[in-house]
Amino acid sequence: MSEASELDEIAREIRSCTKCRLHMNRTNAVPGEGNPKAEVMFIGEAPGENEDLQGRPFVGAAGKVLTEAIENFLGLKRSDVFITNVVKCRPPNNRDPQDDEILACSSYLDRQIQTIKPKVIVTLGRHSTRYIMEKIGKQFRSILAERGKPIKADLGYGEVVILPTLHPAAGLYNPNLRKYFEEDFRTLAGLLGRDKDKDKRPSIFDFLNGPRARGKEGNSNVLK
Ligand code: SF4
Repeated sequence: MSEASELDEIAREIRSCTKCRLHMNRTNAVPGEGNPKAEVMFIGEAPGENEDLQGRPFVGAAGKVLTEAIENFLGLKRSDVFITNVVKCRPPNNRDPQDDEILACSSYLDRQIQTIKPKVIVTLGRHSTRYIMEKIGKQFRSILAERGKPIKADLGYGEVVILPTLHPAAGLYNPNLRKYFEEDFRTLAGLLGRDKDKDKRPSIFDFLNGPRARGKEGNSNVLK
């Protein structure tokens, strides 16, 4: 089976999944999207309101930040990478996903990783960082302690680099954190050999000053 067909099969299973309580309030499950052979995979926390409505990951304000970062710092398009979350259905009122929900949903993420076989996995925020770090036998302290430090690991298909960073929503809620998110994307660009012309790139968060205002999305407790 090709990578695309395997990902389609996983997505089909996710859309009809009832393994945890989050299925009860979802409008749409959000399996993830992108290049089935992506070198880079981004793993966030959980779908927010916009994602639940559209069935697509990172399509609100935090998604705008992530897309700008992918384009401005990596010189890539969203369609070049794969974007998903650690849980695939929206928690009510954007609350944190609970441990049993992450556990119930984890086999889908594991299968997506094994299908795509990314060279770099970027974990966005504490939930996906903790999940992946514990999977490779590392202890998670806090997202501010772990961010920006690449970890070499073996997830069963060859060497992969894990790069923890903040959830893009963190920079929306707290401007002091934007520099960390941008710094980590510079690290990521270096890991991928895509750090040329880095000084010419605008800030990821410049769009906040433009006509497109911050939207309803995400979880303001992203650093808890
Ligand atoms: S969050 Fe994951 S485990 Fe829970 S119902 Fe949705 S797809 Fe299934």
